[in-house]
Amino acid sequence: MLGMRITMGEFFTPAVTREYPEHHPDIPDGSRNRLHNEMGDCVVCLACANDCPVDCIHIEYEEAPKGMIFSNTSKGVPIRRNASLFDIDMSQCCFCGLCVEACPTECLTMTKDFEYSTYDRTELIHAFAAPFGPAKPAAKKKRA
Ligand code: SF4
Ligand code: SF4
Repeated sequence: MLGMRITMGEFFTPAVTREYPEHHPDIPDGSRNRLHNEMGDCVVCLACANDCPVDCIHIEYEEAPKGMIFSNTSKGVPIRRNASLFDIDMSQCCFCGLCVEACPTECLTMTKDFEYSTYDRTELIHAFAAPFGPAKPAAKKKRA
């Protein structure tokens, strides 16, 4: 009886159809979609690539000579590695989120962008590398 009452209630409730793509769905916070790496804050620690269970993050880099850095993150962390390649193959990604959890500078994030289907799989390899210029001397730490 209770089941029938619910069924009848739903029967007379007007249907609400959101016409996608004209009406974009509300993507909830914390959802897992396309990855983004803010390279200016990436220290190229490799934690994301090492934690990825499907090996879809590919990184190549050079190391700064001793006492030199390439840049600083927005929070002042020295960047001693310069990534010449930082590719994420979203066609292999299983959206586990482990890479985001592992990132110490929180530069790697899941965006709300889910509309990136394509007929060409190579277009799903997202290249983030934006190499810095030559290394420069690291600022000396002030003694307390
Ligand atoms: S979400 Fe998971 S599978 Fe996708 S790149 Fe990150 S660690 Fe790899
Ligand atoms: S874990 Fe974060 S900081 Fe480290 S290489 Fe990956 S994106 Fe860059």
